[in-house]
Amino acid sequence: MKVLVIGGGGREHALVWKLKQSPRVEKIWCAPGNGGIAEDAECVAIEAGDVAGLMAFAKTNSPDLTVVGPELPLVNGIGDVFGERGWAIVGPSKQAAQLEGSKVFSKEFLQLHHLPTATTYGAFESAKEAYRALKNIKWPVVIKADGLCAGKGVLVAQDFDEARDFIERVMEKNELGTGGKRVLLEEGLDGDELSFIVVTDGRSYAPLVPARDHKRVFDGNQGPNTGGMGAYSTDDLLPEPLRETIVSTIVEPTLKGLAADGIPYQGFLYIGLMLTSSGPKVLEFNCRLGDPETQAIVARMDFDLAEVLEHVAMGNLQPSKLHWRPGASACVVLASGGYPGKFEAGKRIDGLTASERITGVKVLHAGTKRVGGEVVTSGGRVLGVTATGPTLGAALGSAYAAADRIHFEGMHYRRDIGRHPGNSLKATGN
Ligand code: AMP
Repeated sequence: MKVLVIGGGGREHALVWKLKQSPRVEKIWCAPGNGGIAEDAECVAIEAGDVAGLMAFAKTNSPDLTVVGPELPLVNGIGDVFGERGWAIVGPSKQAAQLEGSKVFSKEFLQLHHLPTATTYGAFESAKEAYRALKNIKWPVVIKADGLCAGKGVLVAQDFDEARDFIERVMEKNELGTGGKRVLLEEGLDGDELSFIVVTDGRSYAPLVPARDHKRVFDGNQGPNTGGMGAYSTDDLLPEPLRETIVSTIVEPTLKGLAADGIPYQGFLYIGLMLTSSGPKVLEFNCRLGDPETQAIVARMDFDLAEVLEHVAMGNLQPSKLHWRPGASACVVLASGGYPGKFEAGKRIDGLTASERITGVKVLHAGTKRVGGEVVTSGGRVLGVTATGPTLGAALGSAYAAADRIHFEGMHYRRDIGRHPGNSLKATGN
C-alpha cells in the first residue's frame, strides 16, 4: 500500500510511525510533514489545508489510502472531493466535519437527538444581542465562537465584565477572524473532563483506549492554555460502568443520529465530555484525533493500523481487529521557550539518538525541521517524548528519563504529566 498522511505535527508523526510498521505499507508520503517525519516518510511541501494541492498530488501519485490528521482539510471538504473520485480516505465529509467546524451546528445536532449537553442560551449574530442575553443567565456562562479558532474560541466567564470583554474582542474587534461572527452562550458545567475517541466507518465503531491530556503550560495546571503539554493512557482511566454509560447515552445515539440525519460519518470522532454529577455530558466534538492524545494512544496499538484504516475507508471496519497493549503509555511534550506565547525557532536539538536508546521510548516530532545534518526547532510544541510501560509509573519514568537526555535552548516541559487532579474519575464512574 502507498499511504498519504496529511498534517505535520506530533499526531501525524505518531500515525506515520505506526503505519510504517505495517507489512502492507511500502510507501508513505506526508504533507507537509516535519523534521522527524522526514525519517519515516517522504515529506511533500503541500500545506494541510490546501485541498486543491492535495488533490493534484493524489491524482499524480495515486495513494491507496489517505489519512487526514488535522481538522482544516476536513472542514475544507477533502473527504468529499476524494470520496467523489473513489479515492480511499479516512476522514469525514465537509458536512460531518461541521460537528467541529461550527459550535452552533454541533449544538443543534445535540439538541435534535436529545443528547446530554449543557443547556444553551442561544446563538447570537450581533454583540448587542449577546450582551442583552447575558442579563438573563446563570453564572458562570460559557461563550463559544462559532467557527474554527485554533483553540482560542471558548471562554468560561465568571461575571458580566469578563463575558462582555470576550464578546467585544471576538465580535466587535474580530480578533478571531470569521470564526467569531456568531457566538453561542451556554450553561457552565462542573466536573472532570474526559475525552472518548472512536473510529467508525459509519456503521460499526470501535473505541480507542482512553487518554487524557494536560492543557495548561505549567505544573499543577497553572498558566495559560496550550495545544497540550502531554498525555497518558491507562485502562483504569475509564472504569467499566462509566464506559457503558458513555457508550449507551452518548456514543451510540450520536452515531445513530448522524446516520438518521443523512450525514454518514467515517473516520475518527473525538467526543469531549464533562462528567457532571448528573452524568456525562458532551462539551464538544472533534472530527479527528487529539494531539497529544494520539501519541499516547498509538503507542498502545497492537494491531495493523494500515489494515484497520483501509477497512474504515472501505466501510468495512472490524472492531475485533483492534488489540491494545496492556499497561500504560505517556507522552511528555517538550516546548520552545516562551510557548504558548512568543518563542524563537531555529534552536539546535541535541540528544535525540541517546533518548531513544531507552527501552519503550519513541520521540515523536511536532515542531522540528532539518537544516543540513541537524534537527532544529520550528514550532511551539517541539517534541512529544512517548513511552510505554507495564504501569503508568514505568511509562512516565522512561519518558522523563528520555526527556532529560534532550536539550535545546529555552526548552521547557511539565514534570507532572499523568498526575491529574481528575484521577478521581474512578469515584465518578462508580
Ligand atoms: P470546547 O472547544 O467546546 O470543548 O471548549 C473548550 C474547553 O472549554 C473545554 O475543554 C472545557 O474545558 C471548556 N468548556 C466548554 N464548554 C463548557 C461548559 N459548558 N462548561 C464548562 N466548561 C466548558
